[in-house]
Amino acid sequence: MVRYNRRGRLDTSRVRDRRGGGGGKVAIGGIGGIVVVIVALLAGVDPTALLQATDGGGGGAPPADGGLQACETGADIEQREECRFVAFENSVQDFWAAEFERQGSRYEPASFNVFTGGVSTGCGSASSAMGPFYCPRDQGVYLDIGFFRVLEQQLGAEGGDFAEAYVVAHEFGHHVQNLTGQNDRVRSREGAESDAVRLELQADCLAGVWSHHATQVDATTGGAPIITEISREDIAEAIDAAETVGDDYIQSRQQGNVTPETWTHGSSEQRVEWFQRGLDTGDVAACDTFAADAAL
Ligand SMILES: [Zn+2]
Repeated sequence: MVRYNRRGRLDTSRVRDRRGGGGGKVAIGGIGGIVVVIVALLAGVDPTALLQATDGGGGGAPPADGGLQACETGADIEQREECRFVAFENSVQDFWAAEFERQGSRYEPASFNVFTGGVSTGCGSASSAMGPFYCPRDQGVYLDIGFFRVLEQQLGAEGGDFAEAYVVAHEFGHHVQNLTGQNDRVRSREGAESDAVRLELQADCLAGVWSHHATQVDATTGGAPIITEISREDIAEAIDAAETVGDDYIQSRQQGNVTPETWTHGSSEQRVEWFQRGLDTGDVAACDTFAADAAL
């Protein structure tokens, strides 16, 4: 079980809880919705190609209990579990801020947008059915927390806090890639060895790098790590999630066969391997999936 620093302060300054909004215009459900989730799962390459032209909502008032904005300390996670998402965001972005500084550059934080149904973004309108994604144009990570139920109930993932943390860290990995120009390296958009797959595997690796350091990240506001303990079981949950979002696993489950030529995110084995590589090394340099000799 992930343990949190009860006294650690949660910083909600980059969090936008947009769950009170409409979004009813963007309605995708049932099997079709799941197919869309698969296409866009953890998307980061070109969200504009995935987004719908209709105008969603999601800009309304926050939930009655104050939503994520009302999360103040680690202790709040015991009362309201959803506050853990603020802890993930804080830990991930604080890590990258420190890492960029260590490398002599400046990290520009992304916004963290939580929504239900549909949401307007700098990349157009999006629906929950697309799964979590990153929009480079407005530098925002977008997440419908209900996605994790889809992962568990429809794709058979084990779930768990750290499975969720992995997904959040993967999306912020796309932000890091955007800041460092990795996105521009994408020329080929599908296929087992495509640049799109390389970009996704790199985001998995970056999520692993953060995981390696997660319990050492000093929150900018509290001076102590907000995540104090990650167990073997937690890591196993993240690995399970990485397996579950592998293209081959999803394809065999959804279409009954595996077609590597249409992969956009990489196989289960690849995703686990690159996450593990980041986790083991804690080193961004280990994440060069674009290297000519990178064995995907
Ligand atoms: Zn992705």
